[in-house]
Amino acid sequence: MNMSIAREKRTIEKIIKLYCRSVHGGNELCYDCAELREYAMKRIEGCVFKEDKPACKECPVHCYSPIRREEIRKVMRFSGPRMIFRHPVIAIMHAIK
Ligand code: SF4
Ligand SMILES: [Zn+2]
Repeated sequence: MNMSIAREKRTIEKIIKLYCRSVHGGNELCYDCAELREYAMKRIEGCVFKEDKPACKECPVHCYSPIRREEIRKVMRFSGPRMIFRHPVIAIMHAIK
């Protein structure tokens, strides 16, 4: 598997976990967040750009449905700034990408 795809999947996973723990308050992902994670993983795995995959938020195609896109944005808006404290390396790589 392409390294950046593997990294992106790990990052999405962490972002959703942090969001769910903080906003929905459980140790395990809640049903909705688990669904969103599955959705995002499938999009990333099936990405038409393959090796040349851009960051989803900069993607000209954006293959997410409008509802899912809004959900992932909400999660990113919350977790993005907080990730820098918990996972500085990932956050920095994300910013550079
Ligand atoms: S949004 Fe764009 S970059 Fe992200 S998975 Fe879909 S097609 Fe690929
Ligand atoms: Zn949740």
